[in-house]
Amino acid sequence: NDEEASAREAAATADTGAPTIFDKIIAKEIPSTIVYEDDKVLAFRDINPEAPVHVLVIPKFRDGLTQLGKAEARHWDILGELLYAAKIVAEKEGILDGFRVVINSGPAACQSVYHLHLHLLGGRQMKWPPG
Ligand code: 5GP
Repeated sequence: NDEEASAREAAATADTGAPTIFDKIIAKEIPSTIVYEDDKVLAFRDINPEAPVHVLVIPKFRDGLTQLGKAEARHWDILGELLYAAKIVAEKEGILDGFRVVINSGPAACQSVYHLHLHLLGGRQMKWPPG
């Protein structure tokens, strides 16, 4: 059906390990609305928000980490930094009463950008289960 077809289309980007659009956002070669930045992570508003607050949190140096499903022990620090940054952003955005963190990993999860990233979603009542 149409929904499945568009899900497959969204997931069509391959995990080649090549630079992604997020490298250009980190380099500020293309604009984004940055809500938090430190030496390790960058957080910016998703261009196609699914909630009143929809922020992407990404490592500035992904060290080969294109998707969570390919994480190795050396990525431990990056993984922790992303989650803690999500909490900092949730606090700044005033959504500590309830927010959701999502990581899409791989084609079956409709990952479309192969630079590890976490979605922080909030500002409305979230539903469960997710689609
Ligand atoms: P994924 O589907 O890989 O989990 O999430 C990728 C996210 O990146 C999508 O929600 C998409 O809207 C967002 N995105 C893709 N390109 C850009 C861009 O150029 N700027 C911003 N701010 N978000 C983007």
